[in-house]
Amino acid sequence: MQTSYLRPTYLEIDQQAIYDNVHHERERLPQSSQLFAVVKADAYGHGLVPVARVCRAAGASGFCVATLDEALVLREAQIVEPILVLGVTSVTTAAIAASQHISLTVADRDWLAAAAQTLAGKNNLPPLALHLAADTGMGRIGFTEPAELQKAAAFVLDHPETFVFEGVFTHFATADQTDLTHFQQQQAKFKQMLAVLPEKPRYIHCANSATSLWHAELAMNMIRFGIALYGLNPSGTVIPAPYPLKPALALYSELVFVKEIHAGDTVGYGATYTAPATEWLGTIPIGYADGWLRRMSGMAVLIEGQRCPIVGRVCMDQIMVKMPAKFPVGSKVTLIGRDGADEITIQEVATYAQTIHYEIACGLDNRLPRHYL
Ligand code: PLP
Repeated sequence: MQTSYLRPTYLEIDQQAIYDNVHHERERLPQSSQLFAVVKADAYGHGLVPVARVCRAAGASGFCVATLDEALVLREAQIVEPILVLGVTSVTTAAIAASQHISLTVADRDWLAAAAQTLAGKNNLPPLALHLAADTGMGRIGFTEPAELQKAAAFVLDHPETFVFEGVFTHFATADQTDLTHFQQQQAKFKQMLAVLPEKPRYIHCANSATSLWHAELAMNMIRFGIALYGLNPSGTVIPAPYPLKPALALYSELVFVKEIHAGDTVGYGATYTAPATEWLGTIPIGYADGWLRRMSGMAVLIEGQRCPIVGRVCMDQIMVKMPAKFPVGSKVTLIGRDGADEITIQEVATYAQTIHYEIACGLDNRLPRHYL
């Protein structure tokens, strides 16, 4: 969507908070482990390139993204460190990845055979670096059988002109939970799968934020550090983080219209809100097109340090709030962040919207400009 710089609604990204989160985790890791910053989905809504630069300054030595396009944006921005695409990439684009020294994930042997064919004879290309994905219980992508993983590794090693066997990894489904049963089963399966490899690649990794925070012994020689670098607890509110994470994102707007309404007046589509008495109503230029979900009706915003609930339905581009007084047009509105003694966290928004903070952050549309502190 078109970024709307001329509207007074914006995200504020605290680069120091991101720096501190990455730096803190880097300090906890053994020297032999590398921290790869997970910056997919536009750095979880925080802005791909600026976040990558801060992470690099704070000690990240590589990056993980979801798509080859995201990786290419990083390369264009002169990010020269290793980049791993975590998702399945179309074989037809394998040469692009190789030419830009971007590492790809391999989830099955058919892909590998097709990639070998596509790249065959392209002698001017550097070999394509590959990480084999082991599906130990996430049920998403990757090899489920040790024998298959072994054959894939052997195939990669048999084609040294075409491929580099750079990594092997798995992803935990329940690292953010207190019940460790499934987590431990996955851990055991990964161990079995590693045991069959004909040789160990440079990177062996299984830790997302939750694993790295709460199971530091599994850092291996690389971690994939995502949500926690943005200052958000991977478990939501279930497990306390081992050190204070600093949230990096705030969302602000401004009152653009204020009026008094009277008993019986209705507000918004469907006329779902009826004023019980005379009250002050303010309109704010943000809506579901910005990622402020329709479900957010009833959620509060902060104006002059006071909580003002959204009344009526969230529109595409505007919301209406009930105010305790006649706040002037132009008053600052805090949708995520601190105002005086009060604070609205992404976690609070997510709980209200019955989802997770990941989804709220990633859902904030690029119609919202980002201001970097
Ligand atoms: N590794 C993989 C394979 C992922 O898919 C993700 C995110 O979804 C991450 C690492 C980062 O996870 P988190 O943001 O919970 O640290």
